[in-house]
Amino acid sequence: MEDPREPHVLILPFPAQGHTKPMLCLAKLLASAGVRVTFLSTHHNRCSPSSSPSPLLRFVSISDGLPDDHPRSLELIGEFLLSIKTAMKARLREFLLSESAEPPLTCVIADGIMSIGIDVAEELGVLAISFRTFSACCLWTFFCVPTFIHEGKLPFPDDDLDKEFHGLPGAEGLLRRRDLPSMCRSQIESNPYRYFLDETTTMTRASALILNTFDTLEGPMLSRLTTIFANVYAIGPLHALAAESDIGHSSGRTAFVGSLRIEDRSCMTWLDSQASRSVVYVSFGSLAKITIDQLMELRHGLVDGGRPFLWVLREDAILGENEETVKSLLSELKVPSERRCVVNWAPQEEVLAHPAVGGFLSHGGWNSTLESIAAGIPMICWPHTGDQQINSRWVSEVWKIGLDMKDTCDRSTVETMVRTLMEDKNEEIMKSMARISALSSASVVSEGSSSKNLGRLIENLRKIGRTSRAISR
Ligand code: UDP
Repeated sequence: MEDPREPHVLILPFPAQGHTKPMLCLAKLLASAGVRVTFLSTHHNRCSPSSSPSPLLRFVSISDGLPDDHPRSLELIGEFLLSIKTAMKARLREFLLSESAEPPLTCVIADGIMSIGIDVAEELGVLAISFRTFSACCLWTFFCVPTFIHEGKLPFPDDDLDKEFHGLPGAEGLLRRRDLPSMCRSQIESNPYRYFLDETTTMTRASALILNTFDTLEGPMLSRLTTIFANVYAIGPLHALAAESDIGHSSGRTAFVGSLRIEDRSCMTWLDSQASRSVVYVSFGSLAKITIDQLMELRHGLVDGGRPFLWVLREDAILGENEETVKSLLSELKVPSERRCVVNWAPQEEVLAHPAVGGFLSHGGWNSTLESIAAGIPMICWPHTGDQQINSRWVSEVWKIGLDMKDTCDRSTVETMVRTLMEDKNEEIMKSMARISALSSASVVSEGSSSKNLGRLIENLRKIGRTSRAISR
């Protein structure tokens, strides 16, 4: 006879802002639907709201195995990934074996680049679901990379990144070499590159795939992924879906928006003083770093673009300069003026929803892209790494909701792009963005595709709960 069991899901994000936020939105949505959730972050990336938005949602953390003062930056990503695979995996196993919460865990939802969650779930006899926080188009590309390697298309035979790239099913005639995920430019056998390829392969051992996207945005790519996963749940934009749900609103914003940094809300007052749709919002996410030269080009380009701008310049965003130089430059830039506001971290969703904002100069991170779409704000993408090169190509050439500034950062290009986006020459972009933004809103209403897909996921989590083995302790 089946052992009736209430579902209890462990959610395991990769320890970084862009992964934590959508997975926290999912945690909140599951809890609001009556599913018990344990949200497991690392001590260093701790998600510890002052109070949980739901009695069904519990926050715990374990060590990632690195010393406290390790920067955990993109430059040292190899060390970080190795520590996750070894030390953190051991701690995850220990945690799950000593876990005494009732009801016992019935499912692990592991980030698509945290296969340690799948490994440990399998060892302990618990079902695993993979949640890749990237776009479907990028995930599909990752699945095709081994074929590109096999066919000798990767590594690129020469340095010409403008050459057309053929062979990605569903994207014929769309890509240049430079539009592939950034790692395709590096040595295939380099460790981070291998890590992401191996993680992609391991994901297929999961019983289902969750993606933060929506059917009407990425239908063709989602169909291709259903050839790999029997169950694909497209439940995005998760921040918009979570906003539709009520719980958490009384518990303080960080309880549910998932920002790991302190937001400087002074920029909202500054935005209040600006004319409608006049401001360019500039942010390159939580990890990207720029050189002083790039910073100066961006600064001049933005000024020459003739629009006021709100710029998120994190204190850790400048590469390879002496600390004093950076500090004095940032403090000079951070003196607000009528035309400029520079902050360390902004409440991005609120900024994009502010009537003064008319354009977003972004790195094309997937959360930022979805947030821009949900708010209906056209983009200029200046991709840095990972999935951003693919996302920005889709932004400019498939969805036509923005411009792609890939691999250039000089003042005149920045100026031209700002003028093109913010002045009336961008009718096609505005129309496409209005259409896609409406599709995004339609996907998260109660009868929308993402709401329905979430309903299917919850139903399946309940079924798993009824049939799964408890973790043996
Ligand atoms: N973000 C924010 N305030 C900022 C800059 C970014 O809240 O000043 C949030 C943004 O809303 C998004 C996330 O940080 O949800 C960045 O994720 P994304 O995938 O765009 O980029 P990543 O940080 O992973 O490169």
